[in-house]
Amino acid sequence: MIYEFRVIDLAEEFGVHRNTIRNWIKSGAIPAKEGPGRRYIMDWSDYQRLCEKFGKTPRMPRTGGMQKPAQEQGPPPIKLKAVEGNKFYPDATWADICLTCGTCASACPIAGVDGLDPRKIVRMAALGLTDELVNTDWIWKCTMCAKCEEACPMDVKIVQLIRKIRSMRPRDQVPGPIHKGVVNCLERGNNLGIPKDDFLFLLEDLGNELAEECCPGFSTPVDVRGARILVTVNSKEPFAEPDDMKWWWKIFYATGESWTISSENWEGVNWGLFSGDDEALKTIVGRIVDNMKRLNCEGLLLPE
Ligand code: SF4
Ligand code: SF4
Repeated sequence: MIYEFRVIDLAEEFGVHRNTIRNWIKSGAIPAKEGPGRRYIMDWSDYQRLCEKFGKTPRMPRTGGMQKPAQEQGPPPIKLKAVEGNKFYPDATWADICLTCGTCASACPIAGVDGLDPRKIVRMAALGLTDELVNTDWIWKCTMCAKCEEACPMDVKIVQLIRKIRSMRPRDQVPGPIHKGVVNCLERGNNLGIPKDDFLFLLEDLGNELAEECCPGFSTPVDVRGARILVTVNSKEPFAEPDDMKWWWKIFYATGESWTISSENWEGVNWGLFSGDDEALKTIVGRIVDNMKRLNCEGLLLPE
């Protein structure tokens, strides 16, 4: 049996500040986990224990959503068949919290493009339409800007859902270049597969240009141990718009910043995030962390 609550209600009930409740949840003093719609969930017995500690009588929250103790329970709730074994939601309670209000669709900058509508995606997921969602190209038109999620009054994790659906598409059917970019990044350290020698040559050449143009004495710092900031690079820049990198460098020069670029695994755009490939995402992030440790940098600049 579970007890579902909002932080604000529990704080009011026990006469403490909201942040106190949040801190107790964070520290485990209240054994609750995040639930749907900005609510938390804990065992009814834990809630009872908490009430005892505060000398309170367990009560029904104003916001509803609680499963009543056995003696107060009515007929069992109707369960959507599709919710059982639903592949998209970590917990069945996620499946039916959507109000179908459409706020997400009105916030989405590309709603309507080829029929895309985040509300439809959420409803299809709730109904367990796995194949339809995995095979639709809507999922790949989404920019993952999260405006829908920001606007949703029920805090439905729409972006998490879309990433989950993306992860279920067979890799050889991922549209566009993003999966290829992930493979390149894993094998060659950057999304566009730029060879290390070409990259280093370009950095040196651009650095010399900058020194001649406006920054006397400048040279591009590569693998400088102890530099304050590790600067990662969007491979699109060395590939197609190399001069764009110089804008950053001019700012660093003017401010006397201590920075460096790694000669290995320098890519700053993690396409594992967009393709729904969690393993690749982790590996690529891990390599940046390794670079920071190797070069003993304090800060990180990501270009996106
Ligand atoms: S804004 Fe949230 S609750 Fe409203 S339709 Fe979209 S997902 Fe459902
Ligand atoms: S994350 Fe995707 S579905 Fe949500 S608002 Fe952005 S583009 Fe639209």
